[in-house]
Amino acid sequence: MKKLVVITGASSGIGEATAKLLSSMGHPLLLLARRVERMEVLNLPNTICRKVDILDTKTFQQAITEAEEKFGDVDCLVNNAGVMLLGDSTTQDISEWNQMIDVNIKGLLNGIHLVLNKMVKRNCGTIINISSVAGRKTFSDHAIYCGTKFAVHSISDAIRKEVSASNVRVSIIAPGVVETELLSHTTDKGIVDGYKEWKDNMGEALTSENIASAVDYIYHLPQSVCVREVLIAPTKQPD
Ligand code: NDP
Repeated sequence: MKKLVVITGASSGIGEATAKLLSSMGHPLLLLARRVERMEVLNLPNTICRKVDILDTKTFQQAITEAEEKFGDVDCLVNNAGVMLLGDSTTQDISEWNQMIDVNIKGLLNGIHLVLNKMVKRNCGTIINISSVAGRKTFSDHAIYCGTKFAVHSISDAIRKEVSASNVRVSIIAPGVVETELLSHTTDKGIVDGYKEWKDNMGEALTSENIASAVDYIYHLPQSVCVREVLIAPTKQPD
């Protein structure tokens, strides 16, 4: 059997597409998200689906322990779960800022914390953090989202250096616009409408499967090759 891959935020979008692709390649999987029924319905073989909020380190750890007992040590973590709550910084509720900081930074760090030490001890492992083009440049109404994704870049790069001698890879995928449910959580209707108009005028967005292919590419290169970052956007996305 191939090695165990953990995917956070596998109940929709990029995480779901990555789960389907890696499962079709024979990997046992641990899929984590709050909407567990959305993962169970995929009915993937050798797959454990657990209702885990990535901010809850206890259930996050329990799920990893359970999967490792069944399938062996985690070989790859796809740190994908995230939220994008676009807003005008002068009016946006601070709870939305905190939610993005919690999920996109602290939740991602929880995942790293739970697997990194063991990977270093084993001298093998891969962590793929899903960031965004908004982790490389700023956009209006994206101030806090950009802040969280810029943090993903700096944290990933610094940890990559720390664990490089231990043969552990830390990679970043920074997508442009992907057609998923991500925008649906933004509460400001005017911003949602403006974003949709911008997206529609641009033309074809990326698909979740496009990003899953990037995960496959990064992960299945030899362990001696670390793709540090993939910045991938629709051809017609100018920014
Ligand atoms: P979706 O909204 O489809 O997926 C987000 C996933 O994150 C869901 O499975 C959701 O599961 C999960 N999630 C959110 N909060 C938590 C939490 N507290 N605990 C566990 N899981 C959580 O959007 P995408 O697939 O687009 O997003 C995936 C990643 O890609 C995100 O990090 C996003 O920032 C990034 N990205 C997306 C882009 C896009 O245009 N779509 C562009 C650039 C980056 P559940 O609600 O069931 O818990």
